[in-house]
Amino acid sequence: MQNGKTYSMPDYFSHRALALKVLKDLDYKYKSKISSRTLYLLGAQGGDLFYTYKLSFTKNNLGKILHAISPLILFEKLIGGNPSYAAGFATHYAFDCAFHPVVYAFERKKRAPLTHFSFENDLGLFICDKLNATRRIIPFNDLLKCTFPVYDSISKVEKSVTVEGIERSLKRHYTTSDVLFRTRRFSYKYDFDYESLTPVLNDAVALAKSAVCCVLDKDINEKVFSGKFLYYGE
Ligand SMILES: [Zn+2]
Repeated sequence: MQNGKTYSMPDYFSHRALALKVLKDLDYKYKSKISSRTLYLLGAQGGDLFYTYKLSFTKNNLGKILHAISPLILFEKLIGGNPSYAAGFATHYAFDCAFHPVVYAFERKKRAPLTHFSFENDLGLFICDKLNATRRIIPFNDLLKCTFPVYDSISKVEKSVTVEGIERSLKRHYTTSDVLFRTRRFSYKYDFDYESLTPVLNDAVALAKSAVCCVLDKDINEKVFSGKFLYYGE
């Protein structure tokens, strides 16, 4: 948490559910280009796992860099790396774009500590339910096997990253995801009309599909990537 804002955006399971939905709906032409489901699902967690690349929260924090960067620039670089990973990352972008305004609007109304995290947790429950996704995490050994392809992709964006640093992030990511899995919620905390978010979810799915196709075609369309990962409501 920094300045009262957490940076763990729409929850782990929401990102995963959206990525799985898009994968299921893709035409064979695109689906066949995603050769690693694990790398695709890891990509769907986007820059979130790099907030712990180093445990300092300065502006040089890798997670912050990957959320602040222009998506156009980011994806032009990521398409030079692993295609499955870049495609998953595109779903992360779409989700962050569509849902951050909603999360922040809710947070502004509530003001209680941990509101953001709890709301996202509720959101995860709603989205998994809506998209018919079971909440699972990537097994530790599968995650570690992603080290090199992730390094290969992220080093194209941020040259200073190291293989050891990426491996450390993946290990920390496993620990975090395991806690999220064990503390996942089965009922809503807030009395909020989650159904009213269905149009936002539909927009996120549509944008994610377009973004994934662009990435797999290696054609970063300006309109599709004109959004932002973060939204501060200002
Ligand atoms: Zn994010």
